[in-house]
Amino acid sequence: MHDSHVRDVDPAVADALSGEVQRQQNTLAMIASENHASEAVMEAQGSALTNKYAEGYPGSRYYAGCEYADDVEELAIERAKQLWGAAHVNVQPHSGSQANMGVYLAMLDPGDKILSLDLTHGGHLSHGHPANFAGQTYEVEQYEIDPETGYVDYDGLESIADEFEPDIIVSGYSAYPREVEWERVQEIADGVDAYHLADIAHITGLVAAGVHDSPVGIADFVTGSTHKTIRAGRGGIIMCEEEYADAVDKAVFPGAQGGPLMHNIAGKAVGFKEALSAEFEAYAEQTVRNATALAERLRENGLTLVSGGTDNHLVLADLRPSHPDTTGKDVESALESAGIVMNANTVPGETRSAFDPSGIRLGTPAITTRGFDEEATREVADLVVRVVDNYDDETVVADVGERVRELCAAFPLYE
Ligand SMILES: *Cc1c(COP(=O)(O)O)cnc(C)c1O
Repeated sequence: MHDSHVRDVDPAVADALSGEVQRQQNTLAMIASENHASEAVMEAQGSALTNKYAEGYPGSRYYAGCEYADDVEELAIERAKQLWGAAHVNVQPHSGSQANMGVYLAMLDPGDKILSLDLTHGGHLSHGHPANFAGQTYEVEQYEIDPETGYVDYDGLESIADEFEPDIIVSGYSAYPREVEWERVQEIADGVDAYHLADIAHITGLVAAGVHDSPVGIADFVTGSTHKTIRAGRGGIIMCEEEYADAVDKAVFPGAQGGPLMHNIAGKAVGFKEALSAEFEAYAEQTVRNATALAERLRENGLTLVSGGTDNHLVLADLRPSHPDTTGKDVESALESAGIVMNANTVPGETRSAFDPSGIRLGTPAITTRGFDEEATREVADLVVRVVDNYDDETVVADVGERVRELCAAFPLYE
């Protein structure tokens, strides 16, 4: 990776940048929301477009000199429309949270009501947590995961909706291993005259490749991140029907943001082009196959999975039944020492704290990018369980770490 200009100016930052490339090469990124963008995407993100002010939209900017900014944004929009089949796309949100903010600003007034999944059950801060602007600006009620099945409690959602009369219902989650029933949520929203926002942040790439049902054409609004299962660099996106296009565009700019990050929009355009290929479809299918293999092997090794398995790119394991005295953080830090980077996560019916919860969340998008198949993923599952069983045994952790480094060398990144 080229960091020679940075090195001339700022060796300290250059060291950190090359250290990060080495870290990504020598560890397995199994944080379910992470991935490895291509060098083409990163080159676009590091381009001269970072210098350009382009407030407004293609063809109607508040600044001169936007011809190339227009080209890039039009390409990103066109490709997004092809990928997800949306009528209207806004590619300017700086990230997934800003995409959600754009929808709220477009459709809600302060004090209006949001009905969303509880954060500790797999929701997202931007769905109305009290520490987030959404929770501070709107009135929020939450629905839950059925602790028996591990699936969204749609009946519970319906009765809360009847009672609470929300202005918008949010579906789409951060730690949910199953297909979301978009139509079911839409019916519930229709029944109480609420909008429906489907937040596909995690599964944007799976939906684009057709390996997860799409909410586009069902939900009123679809938001996403562009750096998770789709490898288009850090950013956000909003999709909606034409009737909401104006409101959404005005909410993003000037409502919530100033100048768009045109270099990131260039990254989105390049990543979306890559995602239109047959290779990407194969990648998305393999990501799900690997998650299925991971889930099966973890279960064979005695772990309890929320919902019993997965339909998508992630698994959520509840450690309490098999390892009642081991916390998510115990496992997170031991696995990090062994070079497997994932996160401790709350589980439905959590009995510990959000800082040291009872679960672990593992995703396959990034290891699939570096070429892992089911066989290699099953080996990773075995390594994970060895560490879960022996998280305080330094010899076992070091032994696992050695094998992880061999696997990393066998599946190189950024050659
Ligand atoms: C990741 C995520 C987001 C967006 O996060 P950003 O870090 O702002 O891109 C939004 N919603 C859900 C459900 C997510 O998982």
